[in-house]
Amino acid sequence: MVGHGLPGQAANGQAGRAGAAASRAPAAAPPGAGQSPGAAQPDAGQAPAGAQPAGPGTLAGVGGRGGRFRPDLRPLPAWAIWLDNSSGRELLSFAAAVWNAGTSRLDVQGTRRAGTDLMDAVQRFYDPQGHLVGSAPAGTLEWDPRPGHMHWHFSVFATYRLVGPDGTVVASQKQSFCLTNSDQIDTTIPAAAWHPPYGFEPACALGQEDAQAITERLDVGWGDTYVQDLPGQAIDVTGLANGTYQLEVIANPNGRLQETNTGNNTVRRQVELVGDPGARFAIAAPYQGIDV
Ligand SMILES: [Zn+2]
Repeated sequence: MVGHGLPGQAANGQAGRAGAAASRAPAAAPPGAGQSPGAAQPDAGQAPAGAQPAGPGTLAGVGGRGGRFRPDLRPLPAWAIWLDNSSGRELLSFAAAVWNAGTSRLDVQGTRRAGTDLMDAVQRFYDPQGHLVGSAPAGTLEWDPRPGHMHWHFSVFATYRLVGPDGTVVASQKQSFCLTNSDQIDTTIPAAAWHPPYGFEPACALGQEDAQAITERLDVGWGDTYVQDLPGQAIDVTGLANGTYQLEVIANPNGRLQETNTGNNTVRRQVELVGDPGARFAIAAPYQGIDV
């Protein structure tokens, strides 16, 4: 999320978590069965009381990988790209976001593995009316004890890499994340949540190393943005030759999370390293009008 490491910046207090079980959207065609924009508003928590959930037909097609109700994790191109020379190393700093364009919120439930700083993760799938329609194992969550974190991260949510013209790859060490709805990306898609819960402190059990269970989520239409400006998160390009590179953001890189589509999990942005040793800088080519 933006300002990750700065707890409190994420629109806290607005939340009013919409309880999925209590959310009942009006009966409407689920995504994939007509795609009428705005027909379904899961998790909005604002549907009329007493509205009937859609019939059993909404459960058709669930159960397998790539089922009907799954998130679709998509990365946005990196932005706010610059070369930080202040530490004596050359660190390529940037912001990156992964958002959910699918038909189910991404919902990862962690349960503590006794005697460890790990939780076993289960991904749960929901239909547009908020009904649980399936689940699958999804790896682990891990306790991150570093200052600015002190919460639970889902392991291997995204990867950042800088790819050189000869295929050289330099990767960020950052791969695990506290998942949360930090940015509205596109709430015009059919299954989008209009008022999802915000804030990573409760979802990721801030300060609660002894937490026994948590649920992290990324709602449809919403993104999770991180600014990679710390050692270990920024990409260290010290010693890399000047030239043209591609800065990659890869969502769900090891495929542990089920999605409707994994063919859109990588995006690249061209970055040039230029200048004299000790005074180099990075130039990012504009991407669809984005020039930072
Ligand atoms: Zn964190």
